[in-house]
Amino acid sequence: MAENQVVLRHVTKRFTTRTMGTITAVDDFNLEIKEGECFSFLGPSGCGKTTTLRMIAGFEDLSEGEIELCGRLVSSSAKNLYIPPEERDLGMVFQAFAVWPHMNIFDNVAFPLKIRKVAKKEIAARVKDALKHCSLDGLEDVYPGELSGGQQQRIALARAIVTNPKVMLLDEPLSNLDPKLRETMRFEIKELQRQFGFTIIFVTHDQSEAMAISDRMMVCDMGKIVQIDTPENLYNHPNSRFVHNFLGESTFINVEVRDGRVFPKGDTSQPIGLTIPEGTKGEMVVATRPNAIRLNGGDGAGFRTHIEKRIFLTDKTEYLVPVGAQLVKLQTPHRVVFAPGEECAIEIANPSWYPPEDAAAEAERARRNII
Ligand code: ATP
Repeated sequence: MAENQVVLRHVTKRFTTRTMGTITAVDDFNLEIKEGECFSFLGPSGCGKTTTLRMIAGFEDLSEGEIELCGRLVSSSAKNLYIPPEERDLGMVFQAFAVWPHMNIFDNVAFPLKIRKVAKKEIAARVKDALKHCSLDGLEDVYPGELSGGQQQRIALARAIVTNPKVMLLDEPLSNLDPKLRETMRFEIKELQRQFGFTIIFVTHDQSEAMAISDRMMVCDMGKIVQIDTPENLYNHPNSRFVHNFLGESTFINVEVRDGRVFPKGDTSQPIGLTIPEGTKGEMVVATRPNAIRLNGGDGAGFRTHIEKRIFLTDKTEYLVPVGAQLVKLQTPHRVVFAPGEECAIEIANPSWYPPEDAAAEAERARRNII
């Protein structure tokens, strides 16, 4: 069993600003990341991803709690203990291409070894090796400005691996690259991880990127951990409307449960044939994926409605159908063809049920986004 390499215990960070008062950017985070794991922090802007990463790196102190790296306590608010970033044995790659334009590639990559006072001969060998692993061999004398975005980000990767760190912190490292290059770099990062065996903490807004790269992910919202699990489990068993919406396409239907039947909110003319989970009553949200709603003919099984709109997508067709006062989105393979205005019926299999969105939470999310 792999050991825990990054451990956060009750980690909390509060910021006080003159205009907005105190904000708890990170609220009681408890986390255990295992050796060799690729673990992503995922969530909307302002949820606390970067602050958490900065606390792990040692750039930010803690309001409460403690952090352990490779079995060593590196931050503790109670003990007033802070090991500086350069003594934490971490590799880091950040969003902006943080390479020094006035240094050639060799000097950029050699920098972390020079400040550690490694012998010249060893520096030459290790830089050569790091450049080879990042497909930059032969470019030692070139300056970063002469290279493409992807190559510049490879310099940052080479500089991060040259010290052979146990943990690699990657903060939106691919966000400045075009989509094709992002995909290639994702594979390259995973390949470097396989060869060097480091643990990755990856911060991103992009759910598909996080799903592709991660063994486990943490979804956070407004400074709180909402769910930690494998990409598959998060997608198939989201524990809240927020996670459902954040990971993959979602279709939500506001409903009311009355006398053992489910109706679209505000319209009791036709029930939706759904099995009601035990103890569910009143207003609820039924959540599913657009491709998990079955579209039948007008005389088929399900909730009777009609096609309001049809949208051709490259690999599927999307339909909007009224359910009470709401327009519900569903997607079918191209062989299922309905025309706008045509009668139809829809069936929803195994949806998730959530309480209606909390207006106070929405307001707080908006407040955090503008700070
Ligand atoms: P993004 O994806 O936009 O980078 P994030 O999830 O990384 O967002 P953080 O940068 O960690 O979020 O910020 C969390 C909250 O803490 C935000 O509301 C932010 O405005 C606030 N915050 C972060 N750093 C500071 C600071 N130095 N002073 C005051 N508030 C801060």
